[in-house]
Amino acid sequence: MSEQVECVVVGAGVVGLAVARALAMQGREVLVLEAAPAIGTGTSSRSSEVVHAGIYYATDSLKAQLCVRGRALLVAFCDRHGVEHRRTGKLIVATSASQLPALEAANLQAQANGVRDLQWLDAAQARALEPALACEAALLSPSTGIVDSHGLMLALQGDVERHGGFLVTNTALAHVQQAKNALTLRAADGTQVQARILVNAAGLSAPLLAQHFEGLAPEHIPTPRYAKGNYFSLSGRAPFSRLIYPVPEAAGLGVHLTLDLGGQARFGPDVQWVDAPDDLAVDVRRGDAFYAEIRKYWPALPDNSLAPAYAGIRPKIAFGASVCSDFVIQGPQVHGVAGLVNLFGIESPGLTSALAIGEHVAVLCKSW
Ligand SMILES: Cc1cc2nc3c(=O)[nH]c(=O)nc-3n(C[C@H](O)[C@H](O)[C@H](O)COP(=O)(O)OP(=O)(O)OC[C@H]3O[C@@H](n4cnc5c(N)ncnc54)[C@H](O)[C@@H]3O)c2cc1C
Repeated sequence: MSEQVECVVVGAGVVGLAVARALAMQGREVLVLEAAPAIGTGTSSRSSEVVHAGIYYATDSLKAQLCVRGRALLVAFCDRHGVEHRRTGKLIVATSASQLPALEAANLQAQANGVRDLQWLDAAQARALEPALACEAALLSPSTGIVDSHGLMLALQGDVERHGGFLVTNTALAHVQQAKNALTLRAADGTQVQARILVNAAGLSAPLLAQHFEGLAPEHIPTPRYAKGNYFSLSGRAPFSRLIYPVPEAAGLGVHLTLDLGGQARFGPDVQWVDAPDDLAVDVRRGDAFYAEIRKYWPALPDNSLAPAYAGIRPKIAFGASVCSDFVIQGPQVHGVAGLVNLFGIESPGLTSALAIGEHVAVLCKSW
């Protein structure tokens, strides 16, 4: 590691790589530090790989703004770089009359967020599109799609390197100290580097890492909360050609059906609060609940057709007693530490939003 570098981005997940790319494209010198032996082994490899349209998020929230902007940037980036993606479309379904108000609310929220292409379908119209579906009504989102998330991260890394940035793996940042006009970073192996700009994009670890930043007041560091999402895969052919989502539930989007680019169907993620960020084993006891949830919109789901697949953990956060439902992008105007940007709570739609988060951080740092 060199002794001085202009910008260090900690974490080579999809968000860290997108931030590094945006900074490198400003002509800055960028080093990405990654604790793992390779890029994209954290939450970014455990998502649904859905390119979200921006439907659910609170008006004017960072999630709403960055998802809508991020989707457009992502699709254009994938087209330019040959990253596989597909506009599958998605149906959000109300499976009982009592869920119709929630479906209407999602429709209104989407409009407030600038998502104008949703179509309200009655049960017959929805079944004309997806004959296996049972529902009272549905919202069709034609612009929702899926993406090869690893292909995306490789293309982002390629852009970082083309613009002179470099990646160091197997190196965990351990401690940060404020020095004159710079930050002194110490890795777990004792290596030190000075940087003018540090972006903490360490995902699930970002809040705990921030506790080791000298000068960062505790009130700016959230408490991490870990909401595991289990996935089960379907053996046999997928019964739907679009993604199928129930109306959203607390802390998640409900047990939905997504497709990978090979056409394999998987269900999930559910919401299971866990104590540790490495509690990544699929909880097989949840299988029965999956059958019950899925049969609300796909009654013909055969017995014994689901197999445990994988799990991811949502990086939820709380400041004091207040659980935060938006992304937190925290610069010196908030915490007072010159040169430092913390990214906290970058849960879904973080994959969709990554390029817009990169753009946002690059603008934040522009005059530094
Ligand atoms: C179950 C689930 C499903 C999801 N589905 C979707 C979806 O369909 N669509 C969507 O848009 N979003 C989705 N998301 C959200 C999306 O996956 C995340 O927002 C995104 O992957 C976060 O990327 P990241 O780079 O912030 O974090 P990560 O991918 O976790 O990367 C953080 C990196 O930091 C490294 N690191 C940690 N500590 C250190 C350290 N001290 N030093 C150096 N490196 C360190 C880690 O090794 C890791 O590689 C989903 C999330 C979950 C949990």
